[in-house]
Amino acid sequence: MATWKTEGFVLKRVPWKEYDGLYTLYTRENGKIIVRAQGIRKITSKLAGHCEPFMKSNFLLAQGKYWDQLAGSQIREAYPTLRTILSHLRTAQSLTHSLDTLTQEAQSDVRIYELLGDAFNFLNTIEKAAGTIWCFAYTWRWKLIAYLGYAPALDQCVAHKHIFRGQHFFDIQHGGIVCQKHINVSHSIAITKTTLMLLEKALQYPFQAMQKEKATQQEWELFGRIIDRFTGYHVPGHRKNRSTYQQLHKHQLYV
Ligand SMILES: [Zn+2]
Repeated sequence: MATWKTEGFVLKRVPWKEYDGLYTLYTRENGKIIVRAQGIRKITSKLAGHCEPFMKSNFLLAQGKYWDQLAGSQIREAYPTLRTILSHLRTAQSLTHSLDTLTQEAQSDVRIYELLGDAFNFLNTIEKAAGTIWCFAYTWRWKLIAYLGYAPALDQCVAHKHIFRGQHFFDIQHGGIVCQKHINVSHSIAITKTTLMLLEKALQYPFQAMQKEKATQQEWELFGRIIDRFTGYHVPGHRKNRSTYQQLHKHQLYV
């Protein structure tokens, strides 16, 4: 059986048959792939410890009929701090859920691979992040959305391509800002200039820097709500899971 090697992150695992597991990986060379790990749920499995969600590992894979089989793996980064802080784990879960639902299999994008690595490194190095971690998670998702080709138009009225005057609205359906004259009642949300600035900077700046931006809680909330609605509208599968905002709010990390 032909084998091949790759490095990647474990996005998720689901049980399969009695002792097997199906693993969703995001790899540098092949993007998202699903592989089967035979016998990985047996206590004696040597592979299991190298394939925990959010680990970065080197994988040896054997070509299979439906799924390639996991034949070997070696941890490269275990991110121990990330996995011992609940808020960090939930954030990692939210990011990997976004990546999983927003991407197709076998479409590689090194920028996304590195964005995920940067996120795990960041979560692994910050000890506490209550009050700021949610803003990091949203910024990260906004960048991911842009990398996937859904980049929002923020420099002119997206409905009629004219320079902006007056009150700004974000149009979820058209994916950008619109003027008052071109709003769509069910899809346009009034935003302040600060929220628009946050949406712009989140695409331009490293996600780690965004928490320093000065905005009121309402403006940050609006920033998050627009990203949630935009993702939910354009990628309906994403909505099935709890959104980042709801998830983080529920666990009182949003302060
Ligand atoms: Zn307009």
